[in-house]
Amino acid sequence: MPILVMKFGGTSVANPDRIRRAAKRVGLEVAKGYDVIVIVSAMSGKTNELVGWVNETSPLYDAREYDAVVSSGENVTAGLMALTLQEMDIPARSWQGWQVPLKTNSSHSQARIEEIPNENILAKFGEGMRVAVVAGFQGISPEGRITTLGRGGSDTTAVAFAAAFDAERCDIYTDVDGVYTTDPRISDKARKLDKIAFEEMLELASLGAKVLQTRSVELAMRYKVKLRVLSSFEEPSDEAGTLVCDEEEIMENKVVSGVAYSRDEAKMTLVSVEDRPGIAAGIFGPLAEAGINVDMIVQNISDEGTTDMTFSCPTDQVKRAEKALNDAKAAGSIGFEEIIADTNVAKISVVGIGMRSQPGVAAKMFKVLSDEGINIKVIATSEIKISVLIDRKYMELAVQALHDAFELEK
Ligand code: ADP
Ligand code: ASP
Ligand code: MG
Repeated sequence: MPILVMKFGGTSVANPDRIRRAAKRVGLEVAKGYDVIVIVSAMSGKTNELVGWVNETSPLYDAREYDAVVSSGENVTAGLMALTLQEMDIPARSWQGWQVPLKTNSSHSQARIEEIPNENILAKFGEGMRVAVVAGFQGISPEGRITTLGRGGSDTTAVAFAAAFDAERCDIYTDVDGVYTTDPRISDKARKLDKIAFEEMLELASLGAKVLQTRSVELAMRYKVKLRVLSSFEEPSDEAGTLVCDEEEIMENKVVSGVAYSRDEAKMTLVSVEDRPGIAAGIFGPLAEAGINVDMIVQNISDEGTTDMTFSCPTDQVKRAEKALNDAKAAGSIGFEEIIADTNVAKISVVGIGMRSQPGVAAKMFKVLSDEGINIKVIATSEIKISVLIDRKYMELAVQALHDAFELEK
């Protein structure tokens, strides 16, 4: 029988009643003749609570134990979903990551999937099981320890299963009815897109649009998974949601397709760094080893042999970044006066594949922000995106002004 992957995010499994609603959707697909792999997230708010407990217990935690704690939310919803389906007389069984086994590398808290053997689950389908409910977000390392795939990782579990089982489609059920031109919670002018290109979705996701985890989009692109984002609260329909697809399948050709924001970005400045060859390697080497995701980098004009080096990284990695840099300083490999961490910033980005062929987008973006009196602290660009770091208090204003200026509501 053809296989379908259906993923339900936190709000879609927030309590037993919501789980029943989601299970009914699964039942509709089973009735159509699909064997279904359901990927579940933890109940909404649960993972945040678990992360909070870990931080309270150990601020510079051992990531193996972080994973042991934060992976637990998904175990609960997987079991409850299987029970709910059984109550509906649908043969179902739950699987934790290690039972599949979903094999990952050892990068705890941001592990990468290496392999998903499909024999165990296929054998159960062969015996008449109709739904395999799999706990999202978690896997097992070569050392046999539980790993997690980074926040939002259930999306990646879902796409990886769709690839491993050659599923007909991967449906991501969430609390909005598709991918919008910007977060509908920030702008009421946000417009739902019927289709979005993989590359644009990849940029939007990596720049903060958390509707899909970045890695899930990468995998869908690589393995040609038919990926759809839709709401678990709306009536089922074949046209519902947003299809993430190849560029060629999209008729609409706007220069800018979307505006993303991230309030989880911090600006770090190393003051009075000695300006000599090898210093950038001396700074960013230890940061990379500590697993810090450095995004934007700016080096100021050198003054009397010293320079200021500014970079951005996720807010929750600031403590680790400071430690890595102070350790490198203590070891004598780099020298600087002080580290200034500014967590009161936000990153705003405009994204669109049309930018490749149309100049002037950056100039327009900077003009819009300056007209609103918003100061730009750091800039980064790529072929299809422009990002700026600004004061966080202007975040909503900037998103709305850019959404208007690039006429995204039309
Ligand atoms: P889930 O728990 O289902 O995984 P998430 O909270 O991870 O859901 O992702 C869905 C949220 O992503 C939406 O509620 C919305 O606020 C946010 N979001 C940000 N940018 C966008 C966008 N461009 N389109 C749709 N949703 C977006
Ligand atoms: N529960 C995890 C998180 O909140 C994974 C997910 O929901 O995708 O990050
Ligand atoms: Mg999510």
